[in-house]
Amino acid sequence: MSRVLIIGAGGVGSVVVHKCCQVPEVFSEIMLASRTREKCDAIAAQLPIPIKTAQVDADQVDELVALMNDFQPELCINVALPYQDLSIMDACLECGVHYLDTANYEPRDEAKFEYHWQWAYQERFKEAGLMALLGSGFDPGVTNVFTAWALKTEFDEIRELDIIDCNAGDHGQPFATNFNPEINIREVTAPARHWENGQWVESPALETAQEFDFPEGIGNKKIYLMYHEELESLTRHIPSIEKARFWMTFSDNYLKHLEVLQNIGMTSIEPIEYNGQEIIPLQFLKVVLPDPSSLGPLTKGRTCIGCLIKGLKDGKEKHYYIYNICDHEQCYKEVGAQAVSYTTGVPAMIGALLMLTGAWKGAGVFNMEELDPTPFMEKLNIHGLPWKDRIL
Ligand code: NDP
Repeated sequence: MSRVLIIGAGGVGSVVVHKCCQVPEVFSEIMLASRTREKCDAIAAQLPIPIKTAQVDADQVDELVALMNDFQPELCINVALPYQDLSIMDACLECGVHYLDTANYEPRDEAKFEYHWQWAYQERFKEAGLMALLGSGFDPGVTNVFTAWALKTEFDEIRELDIIDCNAGDHGQPFATNFNPEINIREVTAPARHWENGQWVESPALETAQEFDFPEGIGNKKIYLMYHEELESLTRHIPSIEKARFWMTFSDNYLKHLEVLQNIGMTSIEPIEYNGQEIIPLQFLKVVLPDPSSLGPLTKGRTCIGCLIKGLKDGKEKHYYIYNICDHEQCYKEVGAQAVSYTTGVPAMIGALLMLTGAWKGAGVFNMEELDPTPFMEKLNIHGLPWKDRIL
């Protein structure tokens, strides 16, 4: 029986609340708070059980502290934007509340994707006897757990890791992103970076590509090398990894639109002056693009996200693939969201459930691969993200 505060009423926040409501024996009291109260109320109206809602500006630590002191949650699930990670962690420390998020902190003026800002909270969380779980979405999140599971059950040593994220869905829109457009475009247009022989190797965004044959009829797709934050924590916590890369599929249509938007300066995060007002082109673009949560009823097809792992078992080389396939239309039927929000929201709920039931506990700041993968892998099968694996 626990009280949980969920911050962020976007596509992911909506899934987290729906999934928490499916486990009332753990999440006995839920509050959904966000910048726009009406969005929280609209989500609350879809739920089978009553929850509380509130307005909060999560950039303001004092507002968060007042809300937490009033509601007294055990755990705060942060599914607002990466910009709010540090202010929410500060408020959790002040109020004695455990913390969970799905994306690492980013400063607004630089798309950096580094953990050092949040890892710097290690001692403070430890001293307070609180747990902060970082990156409990799908990627990061389940991909970290898949890698930890492979190390626990299939390998003596992991040498190479390729995380491969495919969205084979179609929303029928000329151009839209499946999660927050500002965060998505910052991520996709950043230079690619992968780990090789003890150092980071940088290459231009979306330049390195290859074909990958996805399972269960999804078939051959072009995958593009990118940087993704779990590469940093996984290579730190599993130091035998010599090479780690992250790949994502993009449709030709998405890339064509992105190229034009980049060429005309619409993806820039440098402020410009417009009619006497300072605006950031990417933030303006976000406002005119479709809201990702509106894509739910439109999206058909499946996602397939997994890890291709090479390493050693009993002195012999072994190749292993582990993945989840998720159907956009089934997600919509269950919780009114498309699969990208679903595959992020379900692991956030599972991470919270394991923390609240004590299956995952500790004081300090943790990435997912530092915890025992077994209970998380069991819960994935129960709560809507079943996984499959095979030795290649
Ligand atoms: P949305 O933009 O749909 O939702 C974000 C929500 O946060 C909105 O409701 C927004 O309010 C709210 N918010 C923004 N700023 C503040 C603030 N200052 N105070 C309070 N609330 C605020 O994003 P998504 O739901 O698509 O994504 C949520 C998070 O999930 C992001 O951090 C994203 O990076 C992460 N993510 C992680 C993935 C993973 O696999 N690990 C995959 C996909 C996403 P308003 O409605 O008023 O704008």
